[in-house]
Amino acid sequence: MPPLLLPITLESLATAAWMVLGFIAALFMGALILPGLDRRGYPLPNGQTKEYKLYGMSCFFLLNVALGIATFGFGISLAPIVEHFWSLFIVANVVAIAWSLGLYAYGKRSGTVLKSRTGHEGKGRAWAKDLWFGNELNPTWLGVDLKMFMYQPSLLGVYLIVVSFGYAQYERHGVITPQMWCFFGFWFVYLFTHYVKEEFMLSTWDVTTENFGFMLVWGDLVYVPFWYPLPAFWIVDQTTPFTTGQLVALTVFFLLCLTIFRGANWQKEHFRRNPLAKVWGKPPRTLGGKLLISGWWGIGRKINYTGEVGVYLSFALCAGLSHWQPYLLPLSLFLLLVQRAARDDRKCREKYGPLWEDYCRTVKFRMLPFIY
Ligand code: NDP
Repeated sequence: MPPLLLPITLESLATAAWMVLGFIAALFMGALILPGLDRRGYPLPNGQTKEYKLYGMSCFFLLNVALGIATFGFGISLAPIVEHFWSLFIVANVVAIAWSLGLYAYGKRSGTVLKSRTGHEGKGRAWAKDLWFGNELNPTWLGVDLKMFMYQPSLLGVYLIVVSFGYAQYERHGVITPQMWCFFGFWFVYLFTHYVKEEFMLSTWDVTTENFGFMLVWGDLVYVPFWYPLPAFWIVDQTTPFTTGQLVALTVFFLLCLTIFRGANWQKEHFRRNPLAKVWGKPPRTLGGKLLISGWWGIGRKINYTGEVGVYLSFALCAGLSHWQPYLLPLSLFLLLVQRAARDDRKCREKYGPLWEDYCRTVKFRMLPFIY
């Protein structure tokens, strides 16, 4: 059987460069011309709010239509995306560095640059911190918010890589196993539910508080698309199909975790937009009208993180239990979110003072009731 991944050559790097740059350029065109929902963001440090066009669902829809036409109409395979994985990875790193340098230079312009105070003000050279963490909160180019834009190559990039593993499996083994369908289906549902309520992104820490620099750019262009499909490397050559029982159990687990993750985030988003909005059909219970203690937020202070780690555990479980490597994916997200939870806890303690102490007493656990 031929190797799954091609070696890195000048030719494959050139192919990868076309793929990455073409993909980003097409998505940027989409940002300019596709229809979307107009939504107002949350207050910026200068008290103003920004208007966003949310066009992610249009991109996701069009990408799926294009994939369907390319596959069934023209017999085009996406397997080359997997074959060029390492070259794509290198090119994405180069683009991330170039993009960050561009942002740094762009942020140096005079006038309207708005910078956030993000808690990175400690020691270190100012230019290095500006490059790493960014020197502008929400740079905009040709009317497109660049930070929100970057979620498209990130999420649709991971989607394309996930889908391309299905093509690779079909070409290598002549079948697409049920667990590969599950892996693809879980990613589809995860992204669809993301795009259905894309406006939720406007309230996230990354959008409201982090400057846009190498850290976020690299996360979007490299970390997410190239690390998140990890389990597929162990699914692609696994030809023994999962049993119906395994598939049902896996799907139920995935849906439960997704419900917790999305449900908690959506409850918080609704509460922010309308503090009187009902939660699970009842008027919300709050602390000081500011912190929700009903619904998922009465069960765990970071229950949304628990749900998301569970979703990533489901991705890994699609690879079965005979290898440990796929589980590095949920483990890495768990570590990232534990660090994020501690950081957010400090932020909230500072912002809400005694109210936060009260919240910690009322809702004792962060992610796992009775454990953590
Ligand atoms: P959080 O979901 O942790 O939101 C924290 C903020 O929510 C707090 O700072 C506070 O903000 C507010 N808040 C906290 N508790 C309450 C409450 N009980 N009632 C009302 N408001 C509350 O962070 P993000 O919004 O940044 O993250 C969003 C999602 O993104 C998470 O579900 C996370 O799992 C996911 N994520 C995914 C990553 C991935 O790579 N897959 C990476 C990072 C995040 P305020 O001060 O405004 O009230």
